[in-house]
Amino acid sequence: EQLYRVKRWGGGYFEIGSNGNLQVTPHLKNPNVRIDFNSVLEEIKEEGVQFPVVVRFHDILRSQVALLNDAFRQHIQEAEYQGQYLGVYPVKVNQMREVVEEIADAGQPYSYGLEAGSKAELLTVLAYNTHADALTILNGYKDEEFMKLALLGRKMGRKVIVVVEKYSELLQLVKSAQELNIDPIIGVRSKMTVKGRGKWESSGGDRAKFGLTNAEIINAARYLEQHNMGHCLKLLHFHIGSQLTDIRSVKEAVAEGGRIYAELRHMGVEMEYVDVGGGLGVDYDGSQSTSDSSRNYSMDEYVADVVYGIRDVCDLEGVPHPNLVSESGRAMTAHHSCVITPIMGEVTASGMDFDTTYREGEHWLLGQMREQVELLPSADNLQEIFNDVSQYKEQALDAFKLRVISMEELAKIETLYWRSCRQISARLKELDFIPEELRELEVGLSSQYLCNLSVFQSAADTWAIDQVLPVVPLTRMNERPTVNCSLVDITCDSDGKIDQFVGNEGLTDTLPLHPLKDGEEYYIGLFLTGAYQDVMGDMHNLFGRLNEVHIFTDDDDPKDFYIEEVVRGSSVSDVLSIMQYNPDSMATDVKRVIDKLIAAGDIRPREGVKWIDFYEDCLAGYTYLKR
Ligand code: PLP
Repeated sequence: EQLYRVKRWGGGYFEIGSNGNLQVTPHLKNPNVRIDFNSVLEEIKEEGVQFPVVVRFHDILRSQVALLNDAFRQHIQEAEYQGQYLGVYPVKVNQMREVVEEIADAGQPYSYGLEAGSKAELLTVLAYNTHADALTILNGYKDEEFMKLALLGRKMGRKVIVVVEKYSELLQLVKSAQELNIDPIIGVRSKMTVKGRGKWESSGGDRAKFGLTNAEIINAARYLEQHNMGHCLKLLHFHIGSQLTDIRSVKEAVAEGGRIYAELRHMGVEMEYVDVGGGLGVDYDGSQSTSDSSRNYSMDEYVADVVYGIRDVCDLEGVPHPNLVSESGRAMTAHHSCVITPIMGEVTASGMDFDTTYREGEHWLLGQMREQVELLPSADNLQEIFNDVSQYKEQALDAFKLRVISMEELAKIETLYWRSCRQISARLKELDFIPEELRELEVGLSSQYLCNLSVFQSAADTWAIDQVLPVVPLTRMNERPTVNCSLVDITCDSDGKIDQFVGNEGLTDTLPLHPLKDGEEYYIGLFLTGAYQDVMGDMHNLFGRLNEVHIFTDDDDPKDFYIEEVVRGSSVSDVLSIMQYNPDSMATDVKRVIDKLIAAGDIRPREGVKWIDFYEDCLAGYTYLKR
């Protein structure tokens, strides 16, 4: 449990069972329902779904929606807050239809709405956000068409709020509204002076990409008043960054935003909503700290700070409590999905062992190297031996290039070098102090486990911004993991690797995993991939979307679960078509070549047909490696 910190990042959903398998409790309100990951693996195999697979636990989505809304309801009641909470889910965080549908459905009892930041997303939320009281919040840069779609939403009776991100949008919105004679509901986004802390801190402050300055907000209110649309300005929005690591930035933003709301009220604008944006963090590394991949607060504390923070400013200023809106995406979705891959093999720096037996007339360097290795078991000068063997290895390489030693001699020297490194590493625990060089040896010696996935498709942020995602084996966790590994993917790109892990003492370069056994598959899971990772991946090396299974718990038998839906990932034809190829004509071209070979008598007809079928099957098949 300690080794992988599962309980600490698991948010109550994941833990290690007494049988050593990972267990999932998909709904926090039903703690008795526990699913063994091994049964999930079995079920996936039974359905004939090829790995790698994205597993979605729909109950986790429902659970997170309930958790956030219940927390707001409870604090609103306790604080005697006069407004309501009307949260929205920002669809950009995971736009998958099944995810949006599930969240909208789970949010029905809470009038939980949706947020869109582009025209495609707006078209989606107009169709899917059907609850009469739920809000539709529109962020992002907008054009005339965007404004007209928003006004169509008003015509459809929806509570669509257009958040003005830059001043010219206001002019466009007023123009479109007057032309169509439809009253919009308008929000203004403040640039805010307070900045978040963490990887997304540039979302706030003077250089923020979005939002109006204080002067622009006042001018906007006056402009609307002059155009008889003062009554349309209803919402103040701010968003100071995703994954806010420090609760102090939340408190500061709420205090500043509360003041702006109060001032607008004092100006006579009948504002009804304060929207605190996203930013509610996820504890990816289980440290509960202000590290970039964590946060030093809980969801409950966040909600309390928003409710009490706005209440206190309003009470001091003598203005009514506004309805509260938040746009949490990451916290709603991160836990619900994971990527499961079998380990396809092991890559070690030392490679295969070579027979190093003494041969008459061998080069002096080889003798020196052998001597050091023989000294090792009883030596106490480990660093000195390490320095010597490293130097001999380097000299051997030069000697090989100068044609002084043969390739066979070099292979022997390299084998002896790696053997001595392994022996030194095994004896490091005897030392009171481990010098830096010897500590690095651990990483150099570690294995690389080959995962059947593309980091660029399934965990883009680990590559792009060093985001940490927890990785754990799904079984055998009651066995001591003795292989220190980093993970490499199957793309032809050296960046396609994961070498930052959640360990028991914080972040580590390697992850202890279990030795691979012949004839037995070993699966690992990449967790907390439900926010952004699921939908931001690219097609590097033409590895497309993964097969997905959607898991639900059975209401009639809460001990059981079932795969409700299998969504097939990309076939080779799919990804080629996206890149403008024509797979049918490619197959025809290959067939034409084979037909010629058959006609020339170079291939037997039966064999030729088999090759053509094989090519076509591969086009129709999955882009990932087959076992
Ligand atoms: N709202 C806006 C305007 C955003 O830009 C974002 C993301 O950065 C979000 C909401 C979602 O934030 P989070 O995923 O941190 O909840």
